Amino acid sequence: IGSLFCERAWITIDLDALAHNARQLKKSLLPQTELMAVVKADGYGHGAATVARTVLEQGVTWLAVATILEGKELRQAGITAPILLLGAVQAPQEVDAIASWQLQPTLCSPKQALAVSQYAKQPTSVHINIDTGMSRLGPLWQQGAAFIEFVATLPNLQIASIYSHFATADDADSSFMETQQSRFQTLTQQIQTAGILQPKLHLANSAGTLSGPQYHYDLVRVGLALYGLYPEAKFRQEIHLQPVMQLKARVTQIKTLLAGTGVSYGHTYVTPQKMKVAVVGIGYADGVPRPLSNRITALIRGQRVQQIGSITMDQLMIDVSQVPNVGIGDVVTLLGQDGEAKIPVETWADLLGTISYEIVCGFKPRLPRVSV
Ligand code: PLP
Repeated sequence: IGSLFCERAWITIDLDALAHNARQLKKSLLPQTELMAVVKADGYGHGAATVARTVLEQGVTWLAVATILEGKELRQAGITAPILLLGAVQAPQEVDAIASWQLQPTLCSPKQALAVSQYAKQPTSVHINIDTGMSRLGPLWQQGAAFIEFVATLPNLQIASIYSHFATADDADSSFMETQQSRFQTLTQQIQTAGILQPKLHLANSAGTLSGPQYHYDLVRVGLALYGLYPEAKFRQEIHLQPVMQLKARVTQIKTLLAGTGVSYGHTYVTPQKMKVAVVGIGYADGVPRPLSNRITALIRGQRVQQIGSITMDQLMIDVSQVPNVGIGDVVTLLGQDGEAKIPVETWADLLGTISYEIVCGFKPRLPRVSV
């Protein structure tokens, strides 16, 4: 962190933890199943290129992004692995960009497939997403075989894979996941009968992957678990993952406030007694959600302290009355570990009634990502 000593706030990315997670996930697959790292949304906020480079060294063979710009960024960083574009292609304008960045688009409708075929100047690997119950992209499974057969007739398109996406793989009840799988299974039998050349098949996200090898097929598309986060607590028994991201900031000022003093906008916190308060250089413009005001703890000098008052755009306050020797520049851990004490991403997600995906994707580019 040396050169970053003056930074008021940053995110650390533990590359060893990331590599560990990739290895553990790879180990949990059948030998023939490939591991695709989902690095959309800047690698779930972790830094897509850094994540991609690290996991490609650990047996990951595919990458997935949501947008052309995300794919372009990886190519510009010198990454040559195959990249699946998960988002819908708004052909024809995008076909050129897809080709020049060597991305592999997902086809979701006959109109798109026609446009991609028409504008592709050379044989293009395409992937077909079938809706088996997510009700998002792709034709419904009942029309899946007809769509795939149609794409197979179009010039310049090579069907590299057929996939679908689970809607409820992280639920305790796995019955709808099984319904989706059986729809997918029927579809794959239909296309085999139709003589479509052996495309790769894939269905599983993190939760699907951790649910067992029956969901693995030719490859699995894993995002959250690679970053050391569990889609659901029950999967902790299946695999040991290490969190990759920590959120840190520095103390920028310390003051003593008399009893009855209001803290921050709206005085949502009033000191019950004389208190030592530290100002910390991080706020909601960095991605610390303002609704967490007065509800989270932070770690400083290995001790847990309460955040007090409204979180402001660039700063927040903590009660350091019980922490001896606090100084300007001290590192405050908002998420992660300090000594024995930990604050997992899930704590914030639970407080906000959301999922850990939204928390890690919410950190803004102005927070430097520092590989450790
Ligand atoms: N596949 C698709 C189509 C996705 O949209 C996503 C993420 O949202 C994933 C795979 C990865 O999911 P997870 O992060 O749960 O592994």
